[in-house]
Amino acid sequence: MVKSDMLISKSMNLAAELEKAIPSKRLLINEPMSNHTTFRIGGPADYFVLPASVQEVAAVLQAAKEFAVPVTVLGNGSNVLVLDRGIRGLVLKFGPEMAGIRHSGNTVFAGAGALLAAVSKYAAQYDLTGFEFAIGIPGSIGGAVFMNAGAYEGDMSQVVQAVTAVCQDGGLRRFELDELKFGYRHSVFQDNGCLICEVELALENGVNSSIRGRLDDYTEKRQTKQPIEMPSAGSTFKRPPGHFAGTLIEKAGLKGVSVGGAQVSTKHAGFIINAGGASAQDVLALIGKVQDSVYKQFGVSLHPEVRILGEA
Ligand SMILES: Cc1cc2nc3c(=O)[nH]c(=O)nc-3n(C[C@H](O)[C@H](O)[C@H](O)COP(=O)(O)OP(=O)(O)OC[C@H]3O[C@@H](n4cnc5c(N)ncnc54)[C@H](O)[C@@H]3O)c2cc1C
Repeated sequence: MVKSDMLISKSMNLAAELEKAIPSKRLLINEPMSNHTTFRIGGPADYFVLPASVQEVAAVLQAAKEFAVPVTVLGNGSNVLVLDRGIRGLVLKFGPEMAGIRHSGNTVFAGAGALLAAVSKYAAQYDLTGFEFAIGIPGSIGGAVFMNAGAYEGDMSQVVQAVTAVCQDGGLRRFELDELKFGYRHSVFQDNGCLICEVELALENGVNSSIRGRLDDYTEKRQTKQPIEMPSAGSTFKRPPGHFAGTLIEKAGLKGVSVGGAQVSTKHAGFIINAGGASAQDVLALIGKVQDSVYKQFGVSLHPEVRILGEA
């Protein structure tokens, strides 16, 4: 068999194996990642699967391992820049199929695909406080644990009590708080490759009117200060020690500067937005331009908070 025939046959076998693991309506081939990222940017994934249970996650991982195909995980795609040639191998998205939310006492259990806003509202409904900070972060709870996402003095490390994840051997593992290695925009999952399936939050009893007041306050702050009406992946850069990335970028005179369809937001310089038809290449070039200019003017290195995935 020639090499190209072998590749076709291998990929047909993988598709057949995946169909044993997951119904075909939740298995897409050559799916554009621009449909699944808040940046609205990104080339196709070879295979795109939406598992509906921990068992399906494990079965998909097993099939990928058998065919030596790389696996990339996606939540709500709100902190990623997927490159223009897309993602080789398999993308596994934790979406609405794994987004159940329930509680017992003050503990809230959320499936990895549950959106943070939905979890915040759920907690408020049961007078549970501690998760208001997450109301406007447009991610899934799995992605938020992975990133230790935070806002308004709160972050995931303050509320997560335990996480259940499927690890590379296909086994299910429970991680307690002291094993999660939370740091600034960091968790153990950035090092161990496990796929977060369920998150347990330890919240406190609160007063409904105060909880709702905080939710409204945080929502209004975001609407006035952030370009949430435009596609983006949030803050492009991590906060450099002792500075704010947005302030440095603004002081460097970069507000509104663009490369192709990518632009430094005029509303908040910490955000690069897709002002229309931006490619990942445009965003990368603009990131480089901002880094150079800020370094030259202030001697501060900016490092992307946005995770860059796929092939250029
Ligand atoms: C308008 C806007 C505002 C934002 N504001 C904030 C903010 O205030 N604070 C903040 O911290 N962030 C903010 N963000 C960034 C982003 O929303 C958060 O980082 C969010 O937690 C990412 O979640 P996600 O589900 O979208 O993850 P994705 O972007 O899909 O993925 C992010 C990373 O997590 C990994 N991942 C996702 N799900 C899982 C899983 N189940 N298991 C293992 N790995 C996983 C992915 O592989 C990827 O490396 C903002 C983004 C936007 C667009």
